[in-house]
Amino acid sequence: MGYRNKSLETCWGIDVGGTSAKIGCITAGAFRIVDTLPTGVNCNPENLLKRISQLILAEKTELRAVGLGTAGLIDRAAGGVIRFSPNLPLWSGINAGDILRDLLNVPVIVDNDCNAFAIGAINSGQIPQEGLWLFVTLGTGIGGTIINQGQIVYGTGYSGEFGHSTVREGGIPCSCGSDGCWERYAGKEALQWYYKRLSGEIVPPEQISLLASMGRIPAIEAFREYGRWVGIGLANLANCFSPMGFFLGGGLSATAHLFETAAMEEYKKRCKHRWNISVLEDSPEAGAFGAASMAGSQC
Ligand SMILES: [Zn+2]
Repeated sequence: MGYRNKSLETCWGIDVGGTSAKIGCITAGAFRIVDTLPTGVNCNPENLLKRISQLILAEKTELRAVGLGTAGLIDRAAGGVIRFSPNLPLWSGINAGDILRDLLNVPVIVDNDCNAFAIGAINSGQIPQEGLWLFVTLGTGIGGTIINQGQIVYGTGYSGEFGHSTVREGGIPCSCGSDGCWERYAGKEALQWYYKRLSGEIVPPEQISLLASMGRIPAIEAFREYGRWVGIGLANLANCFSPMGFFLGGGLSATAHLFETAAMEEYKKRCKHRWNISVLEDSPEAGAFGAASMAGSQC
């Protein structure tokens, strides 16, 4: 993976996901994944971070800083405390930053995986250094990052929770305790629900996408309904931030060609801003590269 920021050299990145953790480093102008370890709902944070530290130290290379990205609410001001982890229950309340600092004795930065991914995209030149842009991940939930002049806008620390903005008062209950959140209408489950309503079947989003590509009407209609809700949320964001444009990521961004027209129609009804949407290139190592980039540019 290419990058343009020389200060990233000898920085390591850890991408802790719901099923695996990817660990990689930037050396001699390139990023490489060194190892992948399993995680899962019973993953113990102390054990995994110890194992990762041993891996990093075993490389016996110069080590400048370490970045860790994971899903959830991350308290950066407290040094990298994971306040809430949606996929790894034992990680909620853990200060991953302090654990890694103790084990490795180098600067460590911990952030939301969406922010880490965005920093990687800025460093690899996919997101411009100039202007205000919004990065939105469409997956099981909806994540977001606000980028201004190549920097993430953090506010008091938990900005970019676009998925939990209300699009329907009294709507579908959300795991966050609210109801009618955007991600309940434009997340993965919503797409499955729209398809079920039209066909009576529950199938994975990948299959709905395949069926839509084959011209099956219920699948096409499900993506239209899904797109409508994507457009509603994006119009709300455009009205609030007036961005230069949006970058989309996350699993469902790969199906943008199936929902883009419906999303754009809805968007144009609700805001006067230009429709400027790009899908960011994804790769299995993008999260870990982003975490390493974050360590290099923020430590
Ligand atoms: Zn919510």
